[in-house]
Parts: sequence; C-alpha cells; structure tokens
Amino acid sequence: MARIVVKFGGTSVASVERIRQAARHVKREVEAGNQVAVVVSAMAGKTNELVGWVNEASKLHDAREYDAVVASGEQVTAGLMAIVLGEMGVPSRSFQGWQVPIRTDDAHGAARIEEIDPTELEKRFADGVVPVITGFQGISPSGRITTLGRGGSDTSAVAVAAAVKADRCDIYTDVDGVYTTDPRITPKARRMSRVSFEEMLEMASLGAKVLMIRAVEMAMAHGVRVTVRSSFDEPDAPQIAPDGTPGVPGTIVCNEDEIMEKQIVAGVTLARAESKITLRDVKDRPGVAAAIFGTLADESIVVDMIVQNVSEDGSTTDITFTVGDAEHDKAVKALQAASAAGRFEYRTLTGSKGGAKVSVVGVGMRNHAGVAASMFKALADKGINIQLITTSEIKTSVLIDDEYAELAVRALHTYYGLDKQDA
Ligand code: ADP
Ligand code: ASP
Ligand code: MG
Repeated sequence: MARIVVKFGGTSVASVERIRQAARHVKREVEAGNQVAVVVSAMAGKTNELVGWVNEASKLHDAREYDAVVASGEQVTAGLMAIVLGEMGVPSRSFQGWQVPIRTDDAHGAARIEEIDPTELEKRFADGVVPVITGFQGISPSGRITTLGRGGSDTSAVAVAAAVKADRCDIYTDVDGVYTTDPRITPKARRMSRVSFEEMLEMASLGAKVLMIRAVEMAMAHGVRVTVRSSFDEPDAPQIAPDGTPGVPGTIVCNEDEIMEKQIVAGVTLARAESKITLRDVKDRPGVAAAIFGTLADESIVVDMIVQNVSEDGSTTDITFTVGDAEHDKAVKALQAASAAGRFEYRTLTGSKGGAKVSVVGVGMRNHAGVAASMFKALADKGINIQLITTSEIKTSVLIDDEYAELAVRALHTYYGLDKQDA
C-alpha cells in the first residue's frame, strides 16, 4: 500500500464529464489498496473569469477580497469531485483550505504555505475516506482566506504530500509529462522520463508553467517524489512507466543522481511579456545600484536580468534590467519619483514592453564550457539579435524580440539535439 496525493489541473476538471474521468484515476488508485488524497484546481478559465470580475469591480480592490473571490473556483470542483467519487462508490468528502487547515502567511494573492496540520487528513485515511482539497488557497494568521498565486494548486498538492508524508505526488495535467520544451511550440518536443529537481526548478522559473516553481522548491526541500502525467490517459489502462516497467506513466521529478544519462542541455524555455527598462548616464557612485533596485524592491517589483555598463571616464553608467510587463508602468513611476526625491540621478529613462526571454537549461552545463557561445551562434545563424544575456551555473537566458521567440526556441531545440526522431 502506498500513500498518494493526486492533483488535477484546470483542464482536467473543466466539466463534470472531465471530473468523472479524473475520478476514475482516483478510483483505480484506491482499488489498488492505496490511501489517496486529491487536490483540485478550478475549472479551466474560471480563475481568469473571477480575476476579471474583481478588476471590473475595482482596479484598486482590497487584496483580501480578491482572495475571497478567486478562491471560490476550487470550492466548486472540490465539491463536484467528492460527489462524483461518492457516486462511483469511493467514500469521499471535500475540504476547503481553511478546513484542513492549510496555514499560510498573510501575503494575499501570493501567500506562502507555512504549515499543514495533517490530523484531519490522517483521520480520513484511517476511515477509508478520500479527502478532496481545494488547491491554491489557505488561511492567514488572522483567519482570512488567502491564495497562493497563479498555478498555485501544484504547490498545494506538494505541500499536502509533504504534510502527510506521501510516497508520491502525482500531478495530472493536459500533457503526459515534462517535455524538452513546451509541446505547444514544437511537435518535436520530447517527453523526458526523468528530470532533476534543479532542472525543473530552472525550467519552471524560466517559463515552463507545467509546474509552479514553488511546488518544485517544496518538493526539493521535503524530498517529495513528484510525477507529471496526463488525466486524459485511459484510467483503466495498465500503469506502465516510460522505461517499460510497471509504474507511473509520465515524467518523474527526482534527484540528479537518479538520472543516468545527463544531457548538456535538457530543455529550452520561453517566457513572454518581459519589459526592458534602461537608465542612461546614471551618476556613478557607491550605492547607486542599491538605491535603484531598492526603490523597486520597496514596491515589491521582481527584477530579473540586470546589465550595467561603465562609461569611459567612469563617472556615469548605463543600467538596463527587465521586469514583467505587468510591472513596467509601476517600475517607471517608482524610479521617476525616487529620482525626483534625489535618491539617484540619470539622464534618460526608457522602457519597452513585450520582450521574450529564451533560456537553455541543463545540469550538464556545469562542467561544459562554451554552451553560452554555442547558443549565441545558433541564434545568430537565424539572424536573431540578442538584447540581454544572463547566465547561472545550469542555464543561459537571452532577451530577444517577441517576433522571433518561437523560432528561437525551435532553433535551439534542434541545435542541442533535443528533437524527437520521428517528428
Ligand atoms: P494545469 O491546468 O493542469 O495546471 P497548466 O496549463 O498549468 O496545466 O500546465 C500545463 C501546460 O504547460 C501544458 O499544456 C503545456 O503547454 C505547458 N508547458 C510549458 N512548458 C512545458 C514543458 N516543458 N513540458 C510540458 N508542458 C509544458
Ligand atoms: N486555479 C488557479 C489558477 O488558475 C490555480 C491553479 O490552477 O493551479 O491559477
Ligand atoms: Mg498549472
């Protein structure tokens, strides 16, 4: 017997019929003698609709009420899943985040899970009842409903798995695993049978939304074994892992040392809607970067790539950095205000939205020189201009014109030998 937490994403619960299909996967696991807890997302499109309503009600809404509204999508699917399971003869009941309880901090809209009390869930396991838990949400120290940020149900699932010491956390989605790049960009994308936590972490943070980054962080920290698989697979088919042995069909996210064959580049990712902001002729003195980026941090604006150039005489510098498009206007305003208040001086400030960040990721890059150079060459061969570059131990990212985004992904995918043979 194993203890398994299964999570179904929005497309997998998009209608009652889909919920029924998802429930058949749960039933299969229960009938195999496992203890199962379910975490659900809202129906596909529902959270967007709720967010839209909140913005329509007021642009400057109270974040606590935003959470009260957008958390409701998962309440519907949790109840429906429990009903459908019951009808199939699988005893079940729904839990909202606060009923478990899933305790978070009070950062409404982007709350972090602090603690999950497993007592209630353990009781249901002992009674042979399948708890169905709303993903994406919890309860703040002052008793308000919080949400975890978009895509947060992945994090809920991994956190529940860690809390009940599950043997596995199966993430059911609309693709049958983690691919070498988003399969929507190229049919040549290949499914990986295994991917390391480190690579998955980079891929998630660089645009592969198949898993939320915090879910990967949490799985890594708590040693939760995560698999990514498709809810569209026939629930009653034999469960065969990609290597042909009995097991979970799909991709296993695991420790690096469990992966035999290490690629130099394991995957290519794309993140769109990146804004580039440049400050020219900034008066150079110690503390100027701290003043500029401190201003942005005070506004909770997350800065991604940063490039600083020094002028010939060393008296001024140009600073360029990127933020998400949604933060562009706020960032520009904050910098203008801080400069007017005398925190730093520059000659011009320019910003442009709509850039694309393309990245190559792989643990093999650690001991291979020249990956960045070969990446630049592959892009140059396609006539793609690079605007900004950042690297870390296991990734290289470039900012390019959005127009070339998909071309760049496909070119790099082919260049690093990731293309599926028969596509
Ligand atoms: P869910 O609603 O189940 O959480 P998401 O839409 O959040 O599903 O994530 C699944 C999607 O992630 C896929 O449909 C796919 O287009 C996208 N995706 C992006 N990069 C990758 C990748 N490297 N491998 C698999 N899917 C990816
Ligand atoms: N329903 C939430 C969202 O759309 C959470 C999730 O699906 O993971 O972001
Ligand atoms: Mg998701």
